[in-house]
Amino acid sequence: MLKTYDYVLVGSGLFSAVFAHEAIKQGKTCFVVEKKSHIGGNIYCEEIEGISVHQYGAHIFHTSNQKVWDFVNQFVKFNRFINSPMACYKGKYYNLPFNMNTFYTLWGTKTPQEAKEKIESQRKKAKKEPKNLEEQAIYLVGQDIYEILIKGYTEKQWGRSCKDLPSFIIKRLPVRYTFDNNYFEDTYQGIPTQGYNHLIQELLKGCDIECNVNYLEKRTTYNEMGKKILYTGMIDEFYNYCFGALEYRSLSFETEVLDMQNFQGNAVINYTEKEVPYTRIIEHKHFDFGKQDKTVITREYPAVWEKGLEPYYPINNEKNQKLYQDYARLAEQEKRILFGGRLAEYKYYDMDKVIESALALAQKELHE
Ligand SMILES: Cc1cc2nc3c(=O)[nH]c(=O)nc-3n(C[C@H](O)[C@H](O)[C@H](O)COP(=O)(O)OP(=O)(O)OC[C@H]3O[C@@H](n4cnc5c(N)ncnc54)[C@H](O)[C@@H]3O)c2cc1C
Repeated sequence: MLKTYDYVLVGSGLFSAVFAHEAIKQGKTCFVVEKKSHIGGNIYCEEIEGISVHQYGAHIFHTSNQKVWDFVNQFVKFNRFINSPMACYKGKYYNLPFNMNTFYTLWGTKTPQEAKEKIESQRKKAKKEPKNLEEQAIYLVGQDIYEILIKGYTEKQWGRSCKDLPSFIIKRLPVRYTFDNNYFEDTYQGIPTQGYNHLIQELLKGCDIECNVNYLEKRTTYNEMGKKILYTGMIDEFYNYCFGALEYRSLSFETEVLDMQNFQGNAVINYTEKEVPYTRIIEHKHFDFGKQDKTVITREYPAVWEKGLEPYYPINNEKNQKLYQDYARLAEQEKRILFGGRLAEYKYYDMDKVIESALALAQKELHE
C-alpha cells in the first residue's frame, strides 16, 4: 500500500520549500519529489575547497519586504555582503551600477552637475523615438555608457545584435548621481551565513523527500500519493507541450579551482566587450569574505536553451506570453493541482518574490 500525504510537492526549490514549511506547521503531511540529485533547486550550493559554490548562478538575497525578511531570518542569519559588481571593458574597470564612480572613470567628471551635463550632451544626439534596443539605450544614457557598458554584454546575453532587439527590453536604465556602488536599492541584503542549503533543509524539515525521480515519469503513482499536488516544474512540460514549447535562455558554467587566495578581488566582474565570450566571472569566496588558501571561480556563458538544458531566463515576448496564457488557462481548471514558482508561472522571480508568492499560496490554501 502506498503511503499517502496531504501534499505531494513536485520540486524542492524555494517555492516548494516555503509552502512545505507552512503546511507542516499546520499539521499537514508533505512528500517532496525532486528530479535532481539534491534539494534546493536554483539556490543549491556545493562546497569546494571549503568555499560555498553557487551551482546555478550567483544568488544574492535582497528584499525590502519586512515580512519576507523576518520569515527567512527564522532559519538563517545573513552576512554583510553588499553586491557591488565591477565591469571590465578592454582591460579597464568601471563600477556598477552606473554612478558617480563610473562617470569619474569614464570622463573624469567630479560633480553630479558635470556628470549630468556630459550625459545630457550625449543624449541630445540620440533618436527621439527609439526603434530598437541600441537606440533606446543611447536615448536613456548616451553613446559612451552604451558602447562600453551595455552593448557587448547585452548582445552576448541575447545572442543577437542590439539593433535587432526590441527597445522594450530596456525600459529604464537607472543612473545614480552619488558615489554609491550598492547594486540593489533594497532595505535588506546579504548571503545566509550558514548557506542556502541550510535554509532549504530547515524549510523542508518534517517532509519525506525523494531525489533523482522525475514526477512526470511516474505521475499516476505520485498523484495517488497526495490529496493535493503542488507542481513547481515547467508548465509546458506538465501538459506535454500540447500548445508548443515555451522559450528560455540558458547559461553554461565553467568552474575552476585556482591555487591562489584571491583572483579578482570582487565577487562579480562583468565582461562587457563582445570579444570576451563569457558575460561574467564569479569568485565565490567573496560572497562569504572567505580566507581560504585556494579560490573557486566560475565563468558564465549565455547559451541557447534546448530541451534537456537548464531553463534559466524566460523570454518574455508576445509569442511566449500568449503561449503561457494558454497553459495557464488549463492550469486554472485543475482541481487537485496547484502551480507555483518560476517554472510553473514562466516568470523571472527573485528569491524574495518567490517566498512572498509561496506564503500567499499557503495562506489561501491552508487558512481560507
Ligand atoms: C542565473 C540566476 C541567478 C539568480 N540570481 C538571483 C539573485 O541574485 N537574487 C535573487 O533573489 N534571485 C535570483 N535568482 C532567482 C532565483 O533562482 C529564484 O527566485 C528561485 O530559485 C526560484 O525557486 P523555484 O522554487 O521557483 O524554482 P527552482 O529553484 O527552479 O526549483 C524548481 C525545482 O523543481 C524541480 N523539478 C522540475 N520539474 C520536476 C519534475 N518533473 N520532477 C521532479 N522535480 C522537478 C527542479 O529540478 C528544481 O529543483 C536567480 C535566477 C537565475 C536563473
